[in-house]
Amino acid sequence: MKSKKHIAYIGIGSNLGGRLKNCKNAVQKINQHPEIFVIKTSSWIETEPIGYTDQPKFMNGAIEIKTSLTPQKLLKTLQQIEKGMGRKKTFKWGPRIIDLDILLYDNQVIQTSKLTIPHSHLKEREFVKIPLLEINSNLNFIFDISSNS
Ligand code: AMP
Repeated sequence: MKSKKHIAYIGIGSNLGGRLKNCKNAVQKINQHPEIFVIKTSSWIETEPIGYTDQPKFMNGAIEIKTSLTPQKLLKTLQQIEKGMGRKKTFKWGPRIIDLDILLYDNQVIQTSKLTIPHSHLKEREFVKIPLLEINSNLNFIFDISSNS
């Protein structure tokens, strides 16, 4: 791994096929990348679908990683893993074999057409909050801020 290391948190979700297996498989693939090291993995929780509710429940979790990839390259890498695992483009909120989101990347704030960090779901979704706080309870301040805004 190159010398410059960053800490990032990735949200993982699946609601098609072997959901837990898909999530664990994604963690393995992420860890296999030469510029990513998985530090911690949360427990996996079953959650109700949001937005479009007529679909199977999700399995969700999160990981903490160390990486030398830029946020943009990390996004590309995660999208390649999603594609490699058979993720098909469906509709917004639709079912998915695997969903990989960058929740946080160091303390960076990014707002471009392709990338929003912190992730837009971070503050309002329990399926993101629970695994994230399990991995790092120091991140609690993010949610304290949101409850006052
Ligand atoms: P999704 O359907 O949740 O996989 O959303 C995919 C789209 O969200 C892609 O077009 C990404 O460019 C965009 N996106 C914006 N911010 C993020 C982020 N923090 N992590 C992953 N995808 C993101």
